[in-house]
Amino acid sequence: MMFRVLAVCTLLLSIVPHIAQAQLRGHGGPVRALAISPDGTQAVSGSFDTSAIRWSLPKNAAEQVLRFHDGAVNAAAFLTDGRIATSGEDARIAIWTPGAPQPSMVLAGHTAPVVALSVSPDGTTLASASWDHTARLWPLGGGAPRLIEGHAQNVNGVAFAPDGRALVTAGYDATLRISPLLGGGAPVITTLPTPLNAVAVAPDGEIVTAGADGKVYVLSAAGEVTGEIEAAAAGTLPALVQQSDLLGDLHTHSDWSDGRTDIRTMGLAAQQRGYRYMALTDHTQSLLVAGGLTPERFRLRAAEIARVNRELIDFRILAGAEVDILADGRLDLPDEVLESLDLVVASVHTAFDQSRAVMTERVVRALRSPHVDVLGHPTCRRLDRREGTAVDLEAVIAEAARSGTALEINSSPMRLDLNDTWARQALAAGVLLAVDNDAHYPAEFGYARYGSAIARRAGAGVANVLNTRSADELLAHCRQRTARVAG
Ligand SMILES: [Zn+2]
Ligand SMILES: [Zn+2]
Repeated sequence: MMFRVLAVCTLLLSIVPHIAQAQLRGHGGPVRALAISPDGTQAVSGSFDTSAIRWSLPKNAAEQVLRFHDGAVNAAAFLTDGRIATSGEDARIAIWTPGAPQPSMVLAGHTAPVVALSVSPDGTTLASASWDHTARLWPLGGGAPRLIEGHAQNVNGVAFAPDGRALVTAGYDATLRISPLLGGGAPVITTLPTPLNAVAVAPDGEIVTAGADGKVYVLSAAGEVTGEIEAAAAGTLPALVQQSDLLGDLHTHSDWSDGRTDIRTMGLAAQQRGYRYMALTDHTQSLLVAGGLTPERFRLRAAEIARVNRELIDFRILAGAEVDILADGRLDLPDEVLESLDLVVASVHTAFDQSRAVMTERVVRALRSPHVDVLGHPTCRRLDRREGTAVDLEAVIAEAARSGTALEINSSPMRLDLNDTWARQALAAGVLLAVDNDAHYPAEFGYARYGSAIARRAGAGVANVLNTRSADELLAHCRQRTARVAG
């Protein structure tokens, strides 16, 4: 251990002076992409501020600001002839001739953000990876792109083999595909234990790919896994969860209970924030002040959710409830209603002043239900109003670990519950977290920035957060939990 710490310190010491020399300032938001020209004299960076900047490396100064994209610039690459390619959240790719104020070419066709670019060794082709589940090969001399299909989810990384005869793509579906480019032939598909976020190919053909689990996997040119590098052993921090990793919100309200807007408006607002799905978790009957729903109202709401889902495109509303944990730990809905729901959050909203023993038994009892997937705002603190309850969080964490129940990080700035210290303890016990907005109106979908910051401070990776999974994976997880706890 000591050895590793020493090694890291030495590494930092050797790097820091160079970082200090080359601090390039100019972007107005986080930098998302970076590339260096083949001759090493220029760099290009892309940013969430929607611009790219071309930098002179000898001068360490900005040469040109490239403004075109309608959204974050996700990737950048130098072509072999000195031109620059940038791609963005707007699904477009721009080709820039240095000095020209506008792109000389725009490559459109992807239908979702383009997140990675790679240039063929002979400089004739640009490859792009997109969240529309495809990669594309764009002939730079003009002509129609070639589509690389087969990934079941976002394609996050793309790289040419050094001889240009194959294209390697890495997907959030946890597969790495090596597609032959000359002649025909089926792609070589390797399945890894984790979603993949990036890929690069070394000059000798060895492939390295970055997993969402914080590991870097090494594969032979033929696609066989030959090694894995733990992030810690590689001397870097583990990949922490980011707000953009959250695919769904598991705790939201509509005007069927105490939310301010209708179901469709909430769905569209969540989608606009980048979510793919949300669980609509309206309150239950005993919570009269919040317009809690009776079983009959849940049935009616299910029909409305189904209707709205038919209207929404690429977004799904799951039927859920924020079921009240009654004072004795029973749940505020009959089992058959809970069973009919896709996802159940259980929360305490009454009798906050119970003793530690009573409150703890109450919450633990709820976690033992086969139907409860998430414990909402575990301490019930309101920063503007009241301290948390006396609940014994160590006992709650132990029961959550046993029953496979996720604990919520409620992102509302009035709650921030769990906090980072307890979230860290939950992670150490192997408990999944859910980073939720508890949104009651559209603007509240922005709170996840606070919740994801808490998750990061707690050290959570993507795999530790339940709502980084796709809706289907989430539903499968909930079914498995129900079967396990019931059996
Ligand atoms: Zn609540
Ligand atoms: Zn709520």
